[in-house]
Amino acid sequence: MAIQIDGKAISAAVRAEVAAETAALKQEGVTPGLAVIIVGDDPASRVYVNNKKKACAEVGFHSEEFALPADTTEETLLSLIAELNARKDIHGILCQLPLPKGLSDKKVIEAISPQKDVDAFHAENVGHIMIGDYQFLPCTPAGVMELLHRTGVEVEGKRCVVIGRSNIVGKPMAMLLLHENGTVTVCHSRTRDLAAICREADVLVAAVGKPKFVTADMVKPGAAVIDVGMNRDENGKLCGEVDFDAVEPIAGAITPVPGGVGPMTIAMLMKNTLTAAKMQTGK
Ligand code: NAP
Repeated sequence: MAIQIDGKAISAAVRAEVAAETAALKQEGVTPGLAVIIVGDDPASRVYVNNKKKACAEVGFHSEEFALPADTTEETLLSLIAELNARKDIHGILCQLPLPKGLSDKKVIEAISPQKDVDAFHAENVGHIMIGDYQFLPCTPAGVMELLHRTGVEVEGKRCVVIGRSNIVGKPMAMLLLHENGTVTVCHSRTRDLAAICREADVLVAAVGKPKFVTADMVKPGAAVIDVGMNRDENGKLCGEVDFDAVEPIAGAITPVPGGVGPMTIAMLMKNTLTAAKMQTGK
C-alpha cells in the first residue's frame, strides 16, 4: 500500500508559514498585495479566482479583483496591467487564463512586469527557471516539488518521467526535477512505448489532461506517482489522471485527487506573492 501524499495538510503548512512571514512583514509596514484579473464569466475560472482571493485573506494579504467583461478589448486589458505594474501596493499580478477568444494569452503574459509575475509565465522568468537561477516558480510544478520534499521522496539519481510537455506544467516540471538531479524523460502525444517508459520511473508525474490515463501496468512497484490532473468524470466530479484504485496498491507514494496537487497550487501562489513583496520592498 502506498503512502498517500496529503496535499491538503502540506498546503495548510505552507500557507501557515506564509501567514507567519506576512505578519512579520506587516510589522515592517509592508502588506503583500495581489491583483487578480478575470475576463469573462467562465465558471471554472470564477471558482479558481474565488479560491485565490480566499487564500489571500487567510494569509493576511491585500487582494484586489478586476472582473472585466468577455468583450474587453486588448487595449483596455493591457492598460489595466500597465497601471497595476506601476502600483507600489500591488506586488503580484495574475490574469486568469485562458482568456476569451480575441484576446492573446501571450500578449498579456508578456505585459506583466517579470517582478510581479507570480505565475512565473513571463519569458524572462521561464529563462531564469531554465538556468536554475529563479525567484518565482510556476505554482503547480513548484507545488509538486514541495509535496515530494515534505514527503521525503528523493529525486537525486532517480528516473523521473513527466507525461505532458505544456509550458505551464510539463516543461517546468521536468526542469525542476532535473535541477534536483533526477534523470528526466518527458513524454507527450507522439511518444512511442509510453507504458514501457513510465514503468522505468521512480517518480512518475502525470500532467496529460485525460482521466484515468495512468493505469497499473504503467507503474513500477514502489514508484512515487504524482497526479496533476484536474479533470471531470462523466458525472461532473473532479478526478485525476491516474487510475487511483488500481495504482495505489503498487505505488510507494501517491497523490489523491482531490486533495493532492490541487491545494498546493494556491499555496505556492501565496509563497510567490510574498517573495514578490519582499523583493520589491527590499525586505
Ligand atoms: P495541456 O496543455 O493540454 O497538455 C497536455 C499534455 O499532455 C501535452 O503535452 C500533450 O502532448 C500530452 N498528451 C496528450 N495526450 C497524450 C497521450 N495520449 N499520451 C501522452 N501524452 C499526451 O495540459 P496542462 O495545462 O499541462 O494540464 C495537464 C493537466 O493538469 C490537466 O488535467 C489540467 O487540468 C491539470 N492542471 C492542474 C493544475 C492544478 O492546480 N492541479 C494546474 C494546471 C493544470 P502534446 O504536447 O504532444 O500535445
